[in-house]
Amino acid sequence: MKKVIIRKTEEIENWRRNINSEINFIPTMGNLHNGHIKLISTAKNDNSNVNLVSIFINPLQFDSKLDLENYPKTIYNDIKISFSNGADAIFIPNNEDIYPPNNKNIKFLKAPTELTSALCGLNRIGHFDGVCTVVYRLLNLIKPKNLYLGEKDWQQLLILKNLLRREKLNIAIKSVPTQRDFDGIPLSSRNLHLSKNQRKLIRFFSSELLEAKINFQQEKKINLNEIIKKLSAKKISIEYLEHLDPYTLQKTKPEDNISLLAGAIRCGKTRLIDHVFLMKRRPIIAIDGPAGSGKSTVTKLIAKKLKLLYLDTGAMYRALSWLLIKEKIDYKKEKKLQNIFKDISIVFKSNTNSHQDVFINNYCVTEEIRSQKISSIVSKISSIKEVRKFLVEEQRKIGESGGLVAEGRDIGTTVFPNAELKIFLTASIDERAKRRKSDKNSKDSLEIDLHKLKELIKKRDFEDSTREISPLIKANDAIEIITDGYSINEVVDQIINLYYDKIPKETEIK
Ligand code: C5P
Repeated sequence: MKKVIIRKTEEIENWRRNINSEINFIPTMGNLHNGHIKLISTAKNDNSNVNLVSIFINPLQFDSKLDLENYPKTIYNDIKISFSNGADAIFIPNNEDIYPPNNKNIKFLKAPTELTSALCGLNRIGHFDGVCTVVYRLLNLIKPKNLYLGEKDWQQLLILKNLLRREKLNIAIKSVPTQRDFDGIPLSSRNLHLSKNQRKLIRFFSSELLEAKINFQQEKKINLNEIIKKLSAKKISIEYLEHLDPYTLQKTKPEDNISLLAGAIRCGKTRLIDHVFLMKRRPIIAIDGPAGSGKSTVTKLIAKKLKLLYLDTGAMYRALSWLLIKEKIDYKKEKKLQNIFKDISIVFKSNTNSHQDVFINNYCVTEEIRSQKISSIVSKISSIKEVRKFLVEEQRKIGESGGLVAEGRDIGTTVFPNAELKIFLTASIDERAKRRKSDKNSKDSLEIDLHKLKELIKKRDFEDSTREISPLIKANDAIEIITDGYSINEVVDQIINLYYDKIPKETEIK
């Protein structure tokens, strides 16, 4: 494809008509560094869309004239960098193109006060309104499918996500982690103005945030005053240092797993921001839903793509049912059950086909637990109070340090009520029966006719959703996905997009 530079807003429309592809959009204010390069190359590697980089210094988002005048301008170099890293087109409008003096159609937007009454919003009055106005204007001109933004400006990212929701724009935000320089300080166009000594101070600030993050992993708490004291001792001028809920920018609640520690400091003329995400444990995805909804297939793929542990809690109920039947244990006698639980161990191990084998007391039961014999008894056994208490505890132990995607019936409601993302996966009964019928793992289903299979699934649905303890219900904060008519990959992609909408990329372990 011929690489193009577009300068006039009218040309955008023509260009869009000719490219015959969806657009990845990377808005910038120029003076491109590795942070921008990462945005462009991520877009290039994400999909086969056309990548458009815009370079426009938006006067509306500067609160000081001097800052605007001093903002580094390196347009020729920016063009070279953009094209050599994956841009197919560069849009370089001037002020009159973006804000034509007589164009009444330009919408001047306000950023929501709930997201601007903290962090940078307090001192940079009007800044985020300017950001919203220009991004909205650019999005309307370019009409991209994806918008690539850096997590370095986390507050801006939140505000723009809110803007897309508010204005009902069907555009996905793809975020990219903060890129840091060799010495750990976040890359920023404004770093250009730093003296050697100022850079040293910023390095100290960034390393303090990093240390707080590491300490938090162990101690699960943070002492803001101590950090402020240390920064002040180095004569670092702090504009703010706050510990907040990373989504609402309000005070953190004790049950929150992820929080944001963000600060802004001033060094001479330059103002710099940095942040870290504090986590008590790695994220958890809870996927609940009835039999045959596609949970297992989808959950396994998500685990692989996101490098999370895969926990099939249904397999645990099935394995336990298998053992109780094999040992002829009268599971209606509670006392007896409590005694045998002491000696039960259920373990998952990856096998050579990169699937998981399930072991109960060293018996490998992977295949046997999928028989109709187990399917027909498991709901009864899983409704026993003692059974649930025992297995929920085992599941919580496995999920203690997070980093997993768990599937079952009560994951979002009971096992991991604080999971970062909760999905309720379902499908019509016809669709689910058809899926079970063609499920190679469910051997007995192949021999049962579709009508009978439907009746058996209905019965299990009824038992699972009407039992007294932890019935199968959608958690209040779960997102329901009805999978009829969607391919597995479409469902997986939808859940992964929801995950990244919630979880900062910076929290991923490399
Ligand atoms: O998901 P799967 O069909 O393997 O689950 C088997 C059975 O285990 C379910 O029908 C349900 O009775 C029980 N189960 C449960 N709670 C879970 C997972 C499964 O009660 N979290």
